[in-house]
Amino acid sequence: MSMCDDTLLCNYPKCRAKLCGFAWVTACSHAFCDQHGSGEFSRSPAICPACSSALSGKLDIVRTELSPSEEYKAMVLAGLRPETVLDISARALAFWTYQVCQCVAYDIHSM
Ligand SMILES: [Zn+2]
Ligand SMILES: [Zn+2]
Repeated sequence: MSMCDDTLLCNYPKCRAKLCGFAWVTACSHAFCDQHGSGEFSRSPAICPACSSALSGKLDIVRTELSPSEEYKAMVLAGLRPETVLDISARALAFWTYQVCQCVAYDIHSM
């Protein structure tokens, strides 16, 4: 099993730190550690360090808590329609799958 299976890695070139605590995720499906996210995305316009996408939208960059509290989990999707809940879940899973596949590709290249 790859270590990427349960932890995403920072997509910043040569960083690859395991993401824990908080992660910065982007609309272009990249994820960064707190250090690189807060450094790179504090400037404007923000550019994704992994793929050079311009991230100008309000929700193009989100700092997300990786182990949210029970209170947050209980409330964050409450009130949404079931199809909306599933839509959000599907997108989050697609993000995860993309990241894990990317990790596998990295591992092959670094060997
Ligand atoms: Zn990093
Ligand atoms: Zn990107």
